[in-house]
Amino acid sequence: MLTIKCAKCKTKLFKYKKIGQGKVLRCWKSKITRLYDGEIQAKNFVCGNCNNIIAEIKDDRLDMNSEAFTYSGTKIRK
Ligand SMILES: [Zn+2]
Repeated sequence: MLTIKCAKCKTKLFKYKKIGQGKVLRCWKSKITRLYDGEIQAKNFVCGNCNNIIAEIKDDRLDMNSEAFTYSGTKIRK
């Protein structure tokens, strides 16, 4: 499980069940297991604390802005 944090202010945003060792480019909504903080503004998911734009929201996923977040935790082996 990964914990996704805002790169600017380090606020915890959500927990994500990442399968496979690849980069975190997209986060499928169905694999977000816990939402800590964050807001929807237009088509973007933004940090609830500093309004940093974390991702663009699509129907079934978040397309992540790679410079806007950091993560910790472990990816799940396929
Ligand atoms: Zn932030």
